[in-house]
Amino acid sequence: MVNEAAWKEITADLKEKNITLVAVSKTKPVSDIQELYDLGQRDFGENYVQELVDKQPQLPADVRWHYIGHLQSNKVKYIAPFVHLIHAVDSFKLLLEINKQAAKHNRIVDVLLQMHIAEEETKFGLDEKELIELLEYYRAQKEQLPNIRVCGLMGMATNTEDEAAVRSEYKRLHNTFLHLKQVYFLTQPQFNTCSIGMSSDYKIAIEEGSTMARIGSLLFGARQSN
Ligand SMILES: *Cc1c(COP(=O)(O)O)cnc(C)c1O
Repeated sequence: MVNEAAWKEITADLKEKNITLVAVSKTKPVSDIQELYDLGQRDFGENYVQELVDKQPQLPADVRWHYIGHLQSNKVKYIAPFVHLIHAVDSFKLLLEINKQAAKHNRIVDVLLQMHIAEEETKFGLDEKELIELLEYYRAQKEQLPNIRVCGLMGMATNTEDEAAVRSEYKRLHNTFLHLKQVYFLTQPQFNTCSIGMSSDYKIAIEEGSTMARIGSLLFGARQSN
């Protein structure tokens, strides 16, 4: 069962601001995804490769699948044939592998770089210095990477009730995005995405420059913890 009223409200809110809603369907059954699809939702996010690969053929071909989890290089090949956007790239090695697998399928795969903004040590991602290092490599070897497009940044805020802390983390990501755009992507309009905002904090993320929100539990209900 999906929350149709929540979907309508969030969709209207985001559409007005030109923000893409990625409905995060991890752990939820295909029937729930189909239900939101039938309402008009097209962008869905998953964060386990096996689960995504199982679900993808069971749903209409025009679903745009976002891979939002931590991706291991040896699993890129499974999603390369169809993935729409990979949100959480955090190494140059992974970029090389995505390029290689995308080339095999004659595709150009869009990616975001994950920035580490949360206080928690456990969250993946790159700090500002590491982002710059990666982009220096990328700039130097761009001709060898024709099958990827770097389209922006993704981040996860600290899991906290402290709204001011979340706001300042999102602000930091957005400022970094603007800076990197200026330095590395001035002539490349596809660098236009800030993937920030989840169920608990998407309103703050919108105020801080989100162009893409990843929302799960508000649409699909709470997940069983695992
Ligand atoms: C699960 C998940 C979300 C959505 O979380 P909700 O709190 O259910 O909205 C967003 N982004 C990532 C990376 C996730 O893993």
